[in-house]
Amino acid sequence: MGTTRGTTAHPPSIDSIARDVARTVALPHAVLVDCARRAVAEGVPDAVGRAEMHARNFRSSLVGDVINATGVLLHTNLGRAPLPLVSSGRASNLEFDLVSGTRGSRHAATASLIRILTGAEDAVVVNNNAAAVMLVLAALAGGRGVAVSRGESVEIGGGFRIPEVMEQSGARLVDVGTTNRTRADDYRRAVADRSLDVALVMKVHPSNFAVSGFTETAHVTDLRDLGVPVVSDIGSGLLDNTCPWVTSGTALPAFLGSEPAVTQTLRDGADLVTFSGDKLLGGPQCGIIAGRRDLVELCAQHPLMRALRPGSHTLALLQAALVSFVDRSACDTLPFWTMLTTDTHALDTRARDIVSASGRGTVVPSEVLIGAGSAPGTTMQSRAVSLDGDVSASLRARELPVISRVVDGRTLLDLRTVRPDDDEVLVDALRTLA
Ligand SMILES: *Cc1c(COP(=O)(O)O)cnc(C)c1O
Repeated sequence: MGTTRGTTAHPPSIDSIARDVARTVALPHAVLVDCARRAVAEGVPDAVGRAEMHARNFRSSLVGDVINATGVLLHTNLGRAPLPLVSSGRASNLEFDLVSGTRGSRHAATASLIRILTGAEDAVVVNNNAAAVMLVLAALAGGRGVAVSRGESVEIGGGFRIPEVMEQSGARLVDVGTTNRTRADDYRRAVADRSLDVALVMKVHPSNFAVSGFTETAHVTDLRDLGVPVVSDIGSGLLDNTCPWVTSGTALPAFLGSEPAVTQTLRDGADLVTFSGDKLLGGPQCGIIAGRRDLVELCAQHPLMRALRPGSHTLALLQAALVSFVDRSACDTLPFWTMLTTDTHALDTRARDIVSASGRGTVVPSEVLIGAGSAPGTTMQSRAVSLDGDVSASLRARELPVISRVVDGRTLLDLRTVRPDDDEVLVDALRTLA
C-alpha cells in the first residue's frame, strides 16, 4: 500500500520513482525525475502513480500529430492549416545569393511570387499577421495618428485587439465614425484635422463576426484619395477571390466570392494589405505585408523587422504554397485547399466505407466551419460518422489522437477535415472503442 510510504523514516527516493515510471512511460530519465519530484512535493500516498500521471500528461503535451475530425477546417487549437513538413536537414541559401556568392535577401523570391499572384509591387514576410499589423503601424505611423472606424476597432481573438496593438506599436488610435456606420467623410475629416496628425488610414476586416441592420462602411475605393496611405488588414489571406487555381469542374465554395482578397483589395486602391499565411492561403504560420514598394521597404527596414522575421522553414513552406497557386496545383498539394474543394459525394462514400468496415456508427449530413476567424457564419456541407454517446475522451487518448465534436450527446467524426489516408485510422479507432 502506498500509505506505508508516507510513514517511513526515509522519503521515497526520487530516482527509484523515476525508474518505476520508466517501465510504463518512455521519456528521458531527467524528465521522469522532474515528474517524480513534483509527485513527492504534492505529498500524495501513491507517489509512483502520481509521477506516472505527470509523465503521461507531459508526453501528450508535446506538439505532435492529431487527426482533426472536428469539422473546423482551420482550427486554431489544432494548428490551423495542416501542412506536411519537408526538410532535408541541410543548410539553406536563406540569405545567400548563389549567383554572386554574397549575402542575399530572404524576401526576394517570396516577394516575386506574391507579385505574380496579386499584382503587389513588393512584399515582406513576418512571424504572423499580428506581427505584420504591428510592424506596419510602427514603421508607417510611429508617434502619429491612425484613423480606424469604431466598427473595426475589434478583437480578433487570442489577445489581438486593435487598440492594444496600436498602443504597443507606438501609433495613436484615431477613432472615426460610429460602431454601426462609418462613411468616407468621417475619415476625410479626421485626416484634415491637423491636430490629429493622421499618418495612415487602416481598415480591419472584422473576421470573426458580422454586423447586420442599420450599417454602413466605407470601402477602400472610397478612401484612396484621402492623401494618406490606406492599409487593409484583410486577415484571412485569400490571394484572389476568383480563385484561378481552382480548375473547372471542382466545387468552389460560394463564400470565397465575398471574402476580401489580396488582389482585389490592392486593385481597389489599398496601398498595403496584411494577411495570415495559415488561414485561407493554406500555408505555414506567418504574416505577409504586400503592396506599394516604398511602404514595404519602410517596414522591411524598421528595427522591429529583425525581431519578427521568419526562418528558412517557414519561407520554404510559404514559397512552395505560393508556387502551387501559380502553377494551379494548390487543390492537389495544399491540404487545406483539398479539404475545401472536395465534393460532398466523395465524403459520403468515405463515411459509408468507414461505417461498414468498423461496424460502428451511422452516416449523417453535417456542416463544417472554415474557422480561424475566417468567413464568420459560413458553413459548408459535409458528412460525418455519428456515434452514440460522448466517446471524445477515448478518441483523444489514442496514440494518434482523434479530435471529434460532441453534439446533443452524440460524437461526430467529420470527414471533410480528415485526410483520406487517415480513414483507416478512424476505422481502427472505432473498432477498438470500448
Ligand atoms: C487572424 C487575423 C489577425 C491575426 O493574424 P495571426 O496570423 O493570427 O497573427 C489579424 N487581423 C485579422 C483581420 C485577422 O483575421
